[in-house]
Amino acid sequence: MDTIIVKVTEQGDSIKRASDILRAGGLVAFPTETVYGLGGDGLNKEASGKIYAAKGRPSDNPLIIHIGDRDALGELVKEVKKPAVKLMDAFWPGPMTLIFDKADRVPKETTGGLDTVAIRYPSHPIALRLLRESGVYIAAPSANLSGRPSPTDARHVVEDLNGRIDMILDGGAVEIGLESTIIDVTGVHPVILRPGFITKEMIEQILPDITVDPAILVESKQERLVAKAPGMKYKHYAPRGQLYLVEGTNEKAVFEKINALVKEASEKGLRAAVIATEESAGSYPAGLVKVMGSRLREETVAKKLFAILREMDDLGVDIIYSESFGRQGLGQAIMNRLLKAAGYQIISADES
Ligand code: AMP
Ligand code: MG
Repeated sequence: MDTIIVKVTEQGDSIKRASDILRAGGLVAFPTETVYGLGGDGLNKEASGKIYAAKGRPSDNPLIIHIGDRDALGELVKEVKKPAVKLMDAFWPGPMTLIFDKADRVPKETTGGLDTVAIRYPSHPIALRLLRESGVYIAAPSANLSGRPSPTDARHVVEDLNGRIDMILDGGAVEIGLESTIIDVTGVHPVILRPGFITKEMIEQILPDITVDPAILVESKQERLVAKAPGMKYKHYAPRGQLYLVEGTNEKAVFEKINALVKEASEKGLRAAVIATEESAGSYPAGLVKVMGSRLREETVAKKLFAILREMDDLGVDIIYSESFGRQGLGQAIMNRLLKAAGYQIISADES
């Protein structure tokens, strides 16, 4: 299949062409504020099937349906409880996905066989234009091949999906760089199922009794195997080289440990790389050092994370040592993605 790749402009007809494709059951990748999405008609089970096929995604890993106004909820979900309304008032449109009991018309092909459905109202202007022009409820997972880092720029989508989908709308680099925060609002007490740019601390301002799915907090490999939330059991975001997170009680110990590990790897003939921050980059004299933003502004780390993992593949790196981050605030989402990418391999700098 030939994939149409177009830069979106105010004057061009790219959104109209993309809308025609979506209405006809085809697939269009488009930018959102979080990552690029691979969109198809969420009420058309054949279109959902094409999304799974194009990504190589397991069919029990549910898709998120995107909407361009809140009224659409009435057609897609059974019930909207009070806490959900508070969350929507505070964070929609934006990087927050809510899980509801699904209306009958939402096919199980879109929800990975579940009776619940994930809904997001994005804020990105191109996503909103596409939703409103097409009139389609767009099911869209991240526009990467299953298992690869999520795409934060159109060129990442081209790398993974060129020739596999109908169209790619190029809207440049995304703003946030991590997928949405997912909150289950089917019960009386909402629960965070996936951390994202909207942090637990921000949600607590609106819903003080918000909790986090315990599966998110489990960091050991063995215990992960029993994790229950859909999508959590799959290997995610992994670069081709093995990634290790190095953690310690003081930064000097971390620098020394990483330098020792790089030396050891190089002596074995392996191509080693370090993922550092603006503050620490100068502490690694050897190996290939990539800077993933600043610790003082963790949103800069979030924004670069997936692009750096892809860069490691481009550079043909065999082994990667990354610094780690605190688990509070945005750090919770950053560590969640890094741990998945590393297959939960953590090296302690404190034991020597
Ligand atoms: P992606 O868009 O690639 O980030 O994948 C969407 C993710 O949303 C899935 O992997 C699930 O973790 C989550 N999700 C989607 N629908 C549901 C649902 N009905 N219940 C729980 N989690 C869901
Ligand atoms: Mg994904």
